[in-house]
Amino acid sequence: MHHDVIVLGAGLAGLAAARDLAAAGTDVLVLEARDRVGGRVEQTRTADGRTVQLGGEVVGRGHTAYVQLAKELGLELVPSYVAEPGLITRSTPEGLSAGDPPHWFGPADMARHEQLGAEFSHLAATVDPDDPWSHPEAAALDRLSVADWLRSRHATPAVVRLWDIGQLALAGGSYERISLLAALRKSAAVPGSGTGDYDYDDWEGLRLAEGSATLAEIMGRELGPCVRLGSPVAAVDIRPGRCTVRLVTGEVLTATAVVSALPVGPLRSVFVTGVSEDRLASLHRQRHAVAAKFAAVYDRPFWRADGLSGLSEAEGVLGSTWPQNEGVLSALIPPERYGVLLGTPPPLRTPELLAEIAAMFGDQALRPTACHLRLWGTDPWTQGYVTQWPPGEVMAVGPLHGTHEPPFYVCGSDQWVAGYMEGAVRTGRAAAEEALRRG
Ligand SMILES: Cc1cc2nc3c(=O)[nH]c(=O)nc-3n(C[C@H](O)[C@H](O)[C@H](O)COP(=O)(O)OP(=O)(O)OC[C@H]3O[C@@H](n4cnc5c(N)ncnc54)[C@H](O)[C@@H]3O)c2cc1C
Repeated sequence: MHHDVIVLGAGLAGLAAARDLAAAGTDVLVLEARDRVGGRVEQTRTADGRTVQLGGEVVGRGHTAYVQLAKELGLELVPSYVAEPGLITRSTPEGLSAGDPPHWFGPADMARHEQLGAEFSHLAATVDPDDPWSHPEAAALDRLSVADWLRSRHATPAVVRLWDIGQLALAGGSYERISLLAALRKSAAVPGSGTGDYDYDDWEGLRLAEGSATLAEIMGRELGPCVRLGSPVAAVDIRPGRCTVRLVTGEVLTATAVVSALPVGPLRSVFVTGVSEDRLASLHRQRHAVAAKFAAVYDRPFWRADGLSGLSEAEGVLGSTWPQNEGVLSALIPPERYGVLLGTPPPLRTPELLAEIAAMFGDQALRPTACHLRLWGTDPWTQGYVTQWPPGEVMAVGPLHGTHEPPFYVCGSDQWVAGYMEGAVRTGRAAAEEALRRG
C-alpha cells in the first residue's frame, strides 16, 4: 500500500506531525511499535480517578508549541507542583534540610550562587539555540562541563554541589558531564524572566489538568486507523518519489516521504539507507541520559502537615521527588544511580525507594496505596529518557541536528535542544510544515 507520508513512531512528535499532515489532506500512516500511543508519556489511574503520570508530566509557560497544541485540543493547563506551598527538602548522606539555603551552604555561598546564575543567563543570551555552532567560542564552550565552568568562575564546592543536585533532580546527568554550550543552548531556547541555569516556572510551572498522556490519547483517537500499533519498523530506504519501510514482520510499505519520530536509541536499530552518511553519523552520534521514574500514590499529601511541599533534591538512589497530583508523589532516578537500581533485586526496589522517601517525609511514606516503577532507560522502544549532551557533543553531532533531508524528515524531542514534550510537539509540527511546503 502506498501512502503520501509514513511517520515512524506515535509519541507526541509523530502524532503532532501526523495530525497536521492529515489536517492538510495528506494520506498519512503512523507506524508504532508499542500497543499504545504516547511513547514517553504514559498514564494510569487510581481507583478514585486520579491520574498517575509514569513519563512526561509538566511543562512551562515558555513551552509555546505545547501550550498552543493543548489549546487547540481544548485541554486545560493548571499550575504544577511549582506553585505548591511549603518548603523544598534536600537530602544528602550527611544531612537533611528544609528550605533555602541548603544545609551545606556557608555565609558566602548564596551570594556567589546568585552571581553565577546571573553570569550564566548573560552568557546564555549570546547563544542562538537554533545555531549554537555559530557562536564565536562554540568549541571552547562545548569542551567545558558546566561544573568546570562554575569552578573556573570561582564557585565554591558548596555552590557546585547545589547546581549539581538540582541537575541530578532533573535526571539529565551530572553537571560534571554536561557540556556548557548544551546547557546554555537549552536555557536560550526558553528565554524567560528568571536568572540561573533553569527557571522552574518557564520549564515546569504547568501541567494538563486531564493528565499529560491525554494529549497523546486525543491525537491518537483523532487519527484513528491512520495509526498502526504493534508495528515495529526494521528498515527504511529513502528514494525520491518512493520510500520503502519494512516492518520486523517483513511486511513492506511505501510512501512518497518518511518522517522519523523515533528516539535516537531505537533509531540506531533501524537499518536506514538512501540518506547521506553525514546525516546518519550525526543522528547515530546522539545519546540519551538513562533514567527511571517512580510514582507513589497516597490517600492524601501528608507531607503538607510538616510545612513541606513534597519537592526534594536528593543524593540517594532517588534524585528528586515532587507532588504530581493530590497525594501522588513522582520521583526520578538519575543516570548516575540507574545502575544501582538495576543491581537491586526487583522485590527490594520499591521498599528501598519508599525508605528514602520516608527518611525525608516520615513513616507515612512507607504506606502507599500503589506504586509504579518505570525503567525507561532499559525500555527497548525508548532506550533512555531524554537527550544528553556531554562535553564535546554539540560540536560532534553538528549543525545537521534537527534538520531534514527530503524526502526524509526527522522530529522528536531528541531533535530539539534538550528533550521535553515541548521539543516533541515543536519539532513534530515543524517537520509536518516542512514536508507540506516541499509537497
Ligand atoms: C520518566 C520521564 C519523565 C519525563 N518528564 C518530563 C516532563 O515532566 N516534562 C517534559 O516536558 N518532558 C518530560 N519527559 C520527556 C518527554 O516525555 C519526552 O521528551 C517526549 O514525550 C518524547 O516524545 P517523542 O515523540 O519525541 O518520543 P517518544 O515519546 O519516545 O515516541 C517515540 C515513539 O516511537 C516508538 N518506536 C520506537 N522504536 C520504534 C520502531 N522501531 N518502530 C516503530 N515505532 C518505534 C516508541 O514506541 C514511541 O512510541 C520525560 C520523559 C520520561 C521518560
